[in-house]
Amino acid sequence: LVVLDGVNKYFGDLHVLKDINLTVAPGEVVVVIGPSGSGKSTLCRAINRLETIESGTITIDGEELPQEGKALARLRSDVGMVFQAFNLFAHKTILQNVTLGPMKVRGVKKAGAQQRAKELLERVGVAHQAAKYPAQLSGGQQQRVAIARSLAMDPKIMLFDEPTSALDPEMINEVLDVMVELAESGMTMIVVTHEMGFARKAAHRVVFMADGEIVETAEPEEFFTNPQSERAKDFLGKIL
Ligand code: ATP
Ligand code: MG
Repeated sequence: LVVLDGVNKYFGDLHVLKDINLTVAPGEVVVVIGPSGSGKSTLCRAINRLETIESGTITIDGEELPQEGKALARLRSDVGMVFQAFNLFAHKTILQNVTLGPMKVRGVKKAGAQQRAKELLERVGVAHQAAKYPAQLSGGQQQRVAIARSLAMDPKIMLFDEPTSALDPEMINEVLDVMVELAESGMTMIVVTHEMGFARKAAHRVVFMADGEIVETAEPEEFFTNPQSERAKDFLGKIL
């Protein structure tokens, strides 16, 4: 569903993505882990062209991502993204946050968008908050709204970049539970996270990045119990 082929990205002299090859199959859940600065966020951002790349290709559902234009906007709307900071629209209600994209980008009528939004808010467990504003919700609730908002666009793939790292500990699981449920429903997902519980429960594959390279790819159990590279051993030694 998503294919990265020989992707290279530089920030000035800094080579942040080094010849990245990665194929994600439909329904596959890939967890990306690695030290700070290894290029995990840049990888996610490249996949929906929030960052340009210098060489290589990124293909989504058979279509190569163009550099710009209408085709880019359409392909990008197939990619849902949830970031570390809950970037909801502060001056819109929870319901409006979820209906806005489908109405503006997909041309869905208001009634239909609201119906779908309510179902999605139900699914992530915040339906009773629909009339509130983001600031009136906890971080965990806001992040679940952010997930519902992405899902409202019917994305083909969901990217998560450390979705729980800004949350208080007691709210982490409520967000991870929603993500596990999403994974089990067959959504294709790329998840940058250091939450090993999530990786063990939901990931089909763990991709370990260091210094802009994919150093190691393995099934979660295999990776956590028997990492092959020195860099992975060293990293796991620090976080586990
Ligand atoms: P973290 O775990 O801290 O989130 P990361 O693996 O997500 O790290 P990236 O954010 O992808 O790492 O950054 C990769 C490298 O690119 C880092 O060295 C970072 O300093 C650099 N970098 C990221 N964004 C920019 C930018 N806009 N301009 C210049 N350098 C950048
Ligand atoms: Mg990052």
